Amino acid sequence: MSLKIQLASLIGRHIRVRPARLAGHRPVASISFDDFPKSAWTGGGPVLARHGVRGTYYTGGGFCGRTVEGTRFYEAQDLTELAAAGHEIGCHGFAHQPVSELSPAELAQDAQRNRDFLKAFLKGEAPVSYAYPFGRVSPGAKQFQAPRFSSLRGTHEGVNAGRVDLAQLNVISLETRLWNKDRIEAAIHRALHDHGWLILYTHGVSDSPGAYDSSPQMLDWALGKVAAARIEILPVRDALPVALGN
Ligand SMILES: [Zn+2]
Repeated sequence: MSLKIQLASLIGRHIRVRPARLAGHRPVASISFDDFPKSAWTGGGPVLARHGVRGTYYTGGGFCGRTVEGTRFYEAQDLTELAAAGHEIGCHGFAHQPVSELSPAELAQDAQRNRDFLKAFLKGEAPVSYAYPFGRVSPGAKQFQAPRFSSLRGTHEGVNAGRVDLAQLNVISLETRLWNKDRIEAAIHRALHDHGWLILYTHGVSDSPGAYDSSPQMLDWALGKVAAARIEILPVRDALPVALGN
């Protein structure tokens, strides 16, 4: 990553493009999957079903039906199934490039391509939730994407509470590379205490998880802890009004 791009991401992070105050009457949580590997649905879907929870699948259109560097990604049928089961299809970059490296014209083209691809699975509607590929931003990219979605999510660690930027919401990772039960439990307590919005995220869900994935047991444990704290888990699109207190 060049210094210029790192700097753009750092500056972008500190510019609140859509500042808001979360004033929920209760805490709320979401579970999200990025990209997404097929196992997020075939392995993660059954865990969600067991907990009676619906998630958000931030989908990169360019991954559909492909195997990239040993990871098998979702197929069109998976999108049809998960939408039918009430899960949310969110938007990720089509070609999964960091937005900070794209020109405004390339950004517009990639965004349009992903929306066009996803519309077929959304009864012609546009997706309302977005996650930045690699969590990377730039001031220009945030300003470009923000008006197109009701919320946008990055990958910075934290519970969303009080003053937030709806153009770059924080997450708590369930990936093996960052797995830390104490930190997840602390985040749940913070969400409870501050009526915050806890957005969990990972990629694939399998018995042999890679660094960016979780095992079914990890996902099950985290959802169980959130449920034990009596925090409702909703897709991002449905959690947003609860978090805002609307
Ligand atoms: Zn991604």
